Amino acid sequence: MVKKIKRRVGGGRPAAGEQAPPPRFHGLSGQAVPPPADVEGARLELTCGACGDVGEYAVGTLMLTREASFRSIRHLGDHWGFTGDARCRKCGAGDAWRLTDRSFADLVELALQATLAPSRARVKYGEMRLFDGTVTRFGAQAVAHLEALIAAKPDDPFLRDRLGNAYRVGGRPELAIAAWKAAIALDPGHMPSLYSVGDLLVDAGRPDEGLPYLHRCMLAARTSPLPHGTKRELVLGALDASMAAFRKSGGRTRLLPAGAAVPEPLDVASLGLRDRDRLADLLLK
Ligand SMILES: [Zn+2]
Repeated sequence: MVKKIKRRVGGGRPAAGEQAPPPRFHGLSGQAVPPPADVEGARLELTCGACGDVGEYAVGTLMLTREASFRSIRHLGDHWGFTGDARCRKCGAGDAWRLTDRSFADLVELALQATLAPSRARVKYGEMRLFDGTVTRFGAQAVAHLEALIAAKPDDPFLRDRLGNAYRVGGRPELAIAAWKAAIALDPGHMPSLYSVGDLLVDAGRPDEGLPYLHRCMLAARTSPLPHGTKRELVLGALDASMAAFRKSGGRTRLLPAGAAVPEPLDVASLGLRDRDRLADLLLK
């Protein structure tokens, strides 16, 4: 049996189509699909192709492509991968992983389970594709690709934001926060990064650190150049995260930013979907 670790990928709330954290998942039809809110991350025994060291690593979500064949490790070829940003503990490489006999058997078992009980599948069929179409097999490759793009365009907040998302699905939340903060340093009104930092910190039980970012995201909605639909989804996401922090704190935290010309609702605890939509509209006006 493969050991399970519980890990959140992409946040628990429905992020906007624009904001589903890349690397995006593509179903077999090629259509982009958001990663599941909660996935069971796996641990696999892997051989580092760079130095030959064998070890067990947290790999996040396992991916298989249509071409995957389980006749032998050799036949499985390159048709598997994972979202986790796993790095070899001996040499640091993260882009040349090979299965061992044991992890091949684990993968066969997981694929069989996925066929028998698709709703509880711990293997995803599809591939990881970055915003520019680049397909990656391992989380570390996505990170390396984005880092190379950033080296060529260091002042682009969009690329830093994407790197943050890659780190998040790669299982490195602190590096994700650092990348998003770098995007915000370049563009103080960068709504996607403001939302992502706030959401992750609130989710991690650090509302005092996270809420200022969610509030800034709400305030940035009026002036942000993003499409209206994208801004609305981000504002709704920020409201949801802020409400979650409010409930968790027993009503101690502020739902809305101090500078918003929006009346604080009287009873945040019983806010319904309609109130949530109304608040978003007010914040976007
Ligand atoms: Zn190595």
